[in-house]
Amino acid sequence: MDKPLTLKSNRTLQITYNLPISRTSKFWEGLKEGKIYATKCEKCGRLHFPPVADCGECGSSNMKWIELDGEGEIETFTQVVVKPASFSKESSYIVAIARLKEGVKALAWLIGVEREDVEVGMKVRLVARVTSDGRVAYEFVPI
Ligand SMILES: [Zn+2]
Repeated sequence: MDKPLTLKSNRTLQITYNLPISRTSKFWEGLKEGKIYATKCEKCGRLHFPPVADCGECGSSNMKWIELDGEGEIETFTQVVVKPASFSKESSYIVAIARLKEGVKALAWLIGVEREDVEVGMKVRLVARVTSDGRVAYEFVPI
């Protein structure tokens, strides 16, 4: 099969989209106040982070809000050098998965530390912040 002919475009593609958050709005409001919330299923006890409105374990919508301490331990991490289009303007960055002391895993960028100084088992804290352009985010910092 012949390779299809293509024409390369140098135009930048910008995508703006809206995420439905009405049932998890407490999470987004909490980030603005520096708080990290998870949801806990009242039926089966499963803790969810990021919060969900419906339990993926048992299907219940009976969820309770739990504020997380944020302290955790890195289980794995990677440095992203070849970035997805939506982060193309960022420098390379570190993404980590940590198990928080409440037992739930969280995935977030790890900031404030060089790649060479990151290791599995490292203590981190998940913190909320508002970016300079007004978006809310959460990320790990070393402790
Ligand atoms: Zn459940």
